[in-house]
Formats: sequence, C-alpha cells, structure tokens
Amino acid sequence: MSLEERISAIRERIARCAEHTGRKGSDVRLVGVTKTRTVAEMREAAPLIDAIGENRVQEALSKKQEWGGEGGPEWRLIGHLQKNKARRAVEMFDSVDSVDSIGIASTLDRIAMELDRSLPVLIEVNTAGEASKTGIEPGEFPKLLDHVLNSPRLNLQGLMTIGPLTDDEAQVRRAFASLRELSDRARSSSGRELPVLSMGMSGDFEWGILEGSTMVRIGTALFGPR
Ligand SMILES: *Cc1c(COP(=O)(O)O)cnc(C)c1O
Repeated sequence: MSLEERISAIRERIARCAEHTGRKGSDVRLVGVTKTRTVAEMREAAPLIDAIGENRVQEALSKKQEWGGEGGPEWRLIGHLQKNKARRAVEMFDSVDSVDSIGIASTLDRIAMELDRSLPVLIEVNTAGEASKTGIEPGEFPKLLDHVLNSPRLNLQGLMTIGPLTDDEAQVRRAFASLRELSDRARSSSGRELPVLSMGMSGDFEWGILEGSTMVRIGTALFGPR
C-alpha cells in the first residue's frame, strides 16, 4: 500500500467510529506523527493529514529548517517539553499539546508574552496510572487547569492523553473515558469551550474516537514501524 492508500484507509476507519458516536469523519482531526521520519516522507503526507506531530523540539526544528518557507502544515508538539527548550517550542510550534506542569505553563506564558503571541495548548493528563510517566496526575489536574486558564498568553484548547500500553479494550477505554470526564467537568466549571480531546494512537485510535476523541495522533499505522 502507498502512503496515500494507508492514509485513506485510516480516514475510513476514523469515519466509521465517528459515525458510531453521531459525528462525521471530518469531526476528528488526523495528526500524522513524524518522529524519526524524513522531511521527504512528511512532504508527501502533509496535504493528506490535518497536522504534523513531533515529539522533540530539536528534531522538529531541524526538519522545519529543511522544510523552509511559508505555507507548510500545522506543527504540534506532542512530547514532553523541558524548560530549556521552551523558547524554541514557542517560536516554532502552532500548538503545545503536552503541558503537564505549572512550571512549564508559566514558562510558556512568559515566553509567549515576550514574543507577543498567543499560544494554543493542550493539558496532558496521565490517565494510565503507574504504567505511564507522562502527563499531570488527575488529582493535580484542577490546579494546573486553573493556572493555565489564568495565563493570559496560553489559549487552552483541550486535553491530551496517552492510553495505557495494553490491548485490553476495557482498560484503554476506561482511561479515555476518564479524560473525557475531566474535560466535561472543566468545560462546565470554566465556561470555556475546550473543543479538543486528543486521544488515540495507531493501536487504540478507534477506542479513542468511540470515547469522544476529536484528534488522533498516528505514526506507525501511516508510516510503518520506527
Ligand atoms: C509516538 C507517539 C504517537 C504515535 O504513536 P504510534 O503508535 O506510532 O501511532 C502518538 N502520540 C505520542 C505522544 C507519541 O509520542
């Protein structure tokens, strides 16, 4: 199968799951996760996906330089961000989807202010428990939510999670449902729209969509094994 055929097969699976939840395929955005992929592969995929997801600032930066010019795709940071890379991240990403602490939120807000921009962000929550180390713990989420909502240069769009690494459907869906519940509660307490729920990767995106995901992040199912 060509890349184009793989993308359209994924789009069909997305649409089928979206329809199960009363939505359309186009209600779920497809982020192509391009860590370790070449710029040539990314150029081929870019017109067929909704955004590019990169995990590491340094890798993304050198790819973006190689890409050059204007009019490229939307770039989203989906990996953990260290403070010393925050300035570069604000300069080059359209969204930081992995805000997981008050410290990094404060740093991003300050830098966005200095660069006179507003930065779209997602808060990443650890819904997988002890098996995962990425994302804020659900118990700490309300404080971070409050902090981000009160950060003038951060434009909170929603939440992100990485599901537990298991093929136990019930366990994965419980994790995704817990993110949706956090998001529902945050929406009603804040009065904000918070339209984005980023959940689902190659192995579990269908469960993510069935639990309400509006954004899936897919690497290997599009580009092959890393
Ligand atoms: C690598 C990665 C993905 C994509 O994983 P695949 O299993 O290759 O689809 C999605 N989200 C995050 C945060 C990642 O690090």
